Amino acid sequence: MESMELGHAEKIIGVGNNYDMKHTLNCFEIVHWAKKENREYDLIPPVIEAKNVIMRNLVIEQKKKFRFFEIESPFDNTCPKCKGSGEIYKFFKKSVKVNCHICGGSCKITNTCPKCKGSGRYIRKWKGGGGVNLECKKCEGKGKVKVNCLDCKGKGKIKKAVLSDELKSTTPCKKCRQLGFVTIQSFKKKKKSKPIKTQKTLFQPFPIKTRSGKSLADVIKDS
Ligand SMILES: [Zn+2]
Ligand SMILES: [Zn+2]
Ligand SMILES: [Zn+2]
Repeated sequence: MESMELGHAEKIIGVGNNYDMKHTLNCFEIVHWAKKENREYDLIPPVIEAKNVIMRNLVIEQKKKFRFFEIESPFDNTCPKCKGSGEIYKFFKKSVKVNCHICGGSCKITNTCPKCKGSGRYIRKWKGGGGVNLECKKCEGKGKVKVNCLDCKGKGKIKKAVLSDELKSTTPCKKCRQLGFVTIQSFKKKKKSKPIKTQKTLFQPFPIKTRSGKSLADVIKDS
């Protein structure tokens, strides 16, 4: 699909010099509503495409600046699937080097001394029996030793896959037909359900009779 030029898209939506996502979506909503009111249905797809072009640019811009993007939707009935953008964005992954989570980049970790098992001391046994309690030479009695971090192999950095700011693909949102908001019509369609069939039975009161054979109505009449 050939994308519309950004400048052309801005003209269609009518956004000014300083605009953001919210502003763009707001303007789009108004323009879209006007086209519908004027029954200019053929102009609606280019309006949607123009909005998408601007949104794509704003999303990439935000991603470059802050490493993430957030769509601030001005719609009352924002589409839950695309959060109001009308498209679903996917970014390329890239590998970056970050500080190792285990050693925090220091390359070393503190471990329990393998020689004294953390006690800091050891007993040297004499041949003739008995022995002497000595300070562990490996850890100098601390019970702990510094060793190369196993996670980063002593390098201090690990590779991590993060999302780049390069857009891989955009998928049109089917739920809102790229509008970003869910129209009342699509709500109605969803709520259509079969009417529950119930059999109507007439209410027939059972005649209550007294011992004398009079009905309840007769008793009330007489009293
Ligand atoms: Zn949507
Ligand atoms: Zn490490
Ligand atoms: Zn030790």
